[in-house]
Amino acid sequence: MVLDSFSVRIALGVVTLTLFALFVASYRRTRSPYAGWWSLALLQFMLGNTAFLLNGTSAQHWANPFGNVLVVAGAFSVWAGARTLRDLKAAPWQLAVAPVITAVASVLESPGSNVWSGGFVYLAMMTLGISLAARDLWFIKATHSQVHKALSLAAGLLAIYYLGRWGVYALQGPDSESFRSYFGPGPSGLVSLVLLVTVSFSMTTLSSDQLIKGLKERATKDHLTGLLNRGAFLDLASTELKRLRANESGAAIVLADLDHFKLVNDAHGHRAGDAALKAFAEACTSSVRSTDLIGRYGGEEFVLFLPGATQERAQSIAVEISRRMASTEVPEGVSFPTISYGVTASTPAAPDLTSMIEVADAALYSAKAQGRNRIVGADRLQAATIADEARS
Ligand code: GH3
Ligand code: MG
Ligand code: MG
Repeated sequence: MVLDSFSVRIALGVVTLTLFALFVASYRRTRSPYAGWWSLALLQFMLGNTAFLLNGTSAQHWANPFGNVLVVAGAFSVWAGARTLRDLKAAPWQLAVAPVITAVASVLESPGSNVWSGGFVYLAMMTLGISLAARDLWFIKATHSQVHKALSLAAGLLAIYYLGRWGVYALQGPDSESFRSYFGPGPSGLVSLVLLVTVSFSMTTLSSDQLIKGLKERATKDHLTGLLNRGAFLDLASTELKRLRANESGAAIVLADLDHFKLVNDAHGHRAGDAALKAFAEACTSSVRSTDLIGRYGGEEFVLFLPGATQERAQSIAVEISRRMASTEVPEGVSFPTISYGVTASTPAAPDLTSMIEVADAALYSAKAQGRNRIVGADRLQAATIADEARS
């Protein structure tokens, strides 16, 4: 028995349309890039399969290649969607190559009379696109669920099915009994149908995973510089300090404030000010280790938490940050500000983060009072004295 491919295509069309509505609604609600790419893929599958319905009419000569191109583009959109779940992007050229090759191959094999024009390339590109999607789905770093593994397996099976289609097509041709029974439009439509339904079940989980991740990132990161925001910094640093203390180790705190930063804004505009803040964040990031924490403490004030660092080590890091900041390329006419620092290292007598920051703040205050562009170190005992001196 050979499945009636027209009916299967209509059924597939209806399922695709339903899923498209579902994914678009999810995308509008969550703005999850994954749901966005799937909406696009479903639209491409839908239009491609509609074009195939024109086979046998006078439109076949353009509709058939058009259908091939759209369906291949759809497979690569699925791949792009899978990549967003790994925080990776697919370059536009990577998405365009396969559809373009498919278009050329389909146009070259008299598409007006041959419904399988470009079939060899079409099936190869489908196998490739689906395999790439399966691969990226597999390597997603799971945060909340393992749904992606099941989805990767499903995509892997589909890729194997397309490999089979391709092989039988190449060896026996599209009119052979075995191709028509197992790999023709009817059976392959049925397989796609099952797969599309599987995918829709995983959608909610995967796009809400993506949503949660995005929200978490926005809740802990400073938008302009990408550093930790004040709240996230304090949370992480105090937990880390407690852990260090339990291991009889300590940490250093560096508080940094850009000098006369208001003048940068006043003289060159807010954009130049923002650029200086970003440059400073960059200078900090490249001067510390990956285990150190950097936060934007306030407008143009930053804070560093350096586990295991002595006061001397922290001061040399501050020197390094200023050196990098000074060597940053600036827009013409603009000069980036110098920086004042207050530095302190933890001692058994100063147990918590808040009091360490207070000491660093007093030291910073003193650095400002002494004329800025300098580093002042202090311990708890010195802090009160230098604050008094600075005020007088
Ligand atoms: P001092 O050397 O004493 O620290 O002087 P200052 O000018 O750096 O300090 P002040 O506190 O007087 O000014 C800080 C300025 O930082 C004022 C504020 O408009 C600006 N600022 C705060 N956040 C941002 C920001 O996100 N972008 C820009 N461009 N400016 C900001
Ligand atoms: Mg300042
Ligand atoms: Mg300030």
